Amino acid sequence: KFTNAEGEDKTVYAGQLIDPTGQCKSSMWCDVGITEDELPIVVRLENARIRAWQGIPDVTIDNANQVIRLEQKPWQDINVENHVIEVDLSELAKSGSRVGISTVATVVSVRDDCGIIWRCPECRRTLSDDNCQVHGDVVGTRDIRMRMVIDDGQASGSVIIGSEPTLAFLDTDLSGFEDMLAEKGQFGFAQSLRERLLGRQLKVDGRSIVDDQGMMIIANVIEAVEVDAVLAATESRSKWGLN
Ligand SMILES: [Zn+2]
Repeated sequence: KFTNAEGEDKTVYAGQLIDPTGQCKSSMWCDVGITEDELPIVVRLENARIRAWQGIPDVTIDNANQVIRLEQKPWQDINVENHVIEVDLSELAKSGSRVGISTVATVVSVRDDCGIIWRCPECRRTLSDDNCQVHGDVVGTRDIRMRMVIDDGQASGSVIIGSEPTLAFLDTDLSGFEDMLAEKGQFGFAQSLRERLLGRQLKVDGRSIVDDQGMMIIANVIEAVEVDAVLAATESRSKWGLN
């Protein structure tokens, strides 16, 4: 909700748009008559504006008549819950920030600060020595994070892996993670990740943020691409005289 320049109270509606090429945020500055329980619905948008905030595109609807409901889908079914588009890392680097992407590239570096981090309870910035650069001395909340850099030979990007995808990747839970970290130490943990991942292909699903600092991918899921599978395929191809 917001108040416009004329002092009227208005509501802005936030939505998510999906088509076979990807997904995008939408903001509707009017009531377009779509209720949450009828979603997903298929619409055509006419004369909508594209805005970008921090490089993230947003399809902006100003009037309800810009939204036209369609009876039939112009495409095959899309999995709305898990709609992920495979994109090369170098293509991601050239485009704006995107959501719902999946990319595969080589792990070229693992940061030392993987493991448990402390965040400001106000703004979620990471703390150094219980100090937030905005809120000063605070009692931090604990979080888990891994950071690494992937590269496809043409572009590189840093990957931020939060608590949930980290635990899923390590196939453990919070207490298992804490036990492992207590045993190995933060640096030992980063070293074990390096042994396991450096030079290996990593598949990263998530969203990309591209700005003048470079590219960052916030991961929902990461998965080491099994080289054995590639080797096995190569072996069987040579066995059958294919190359
Ligand atoms: Zn803060």
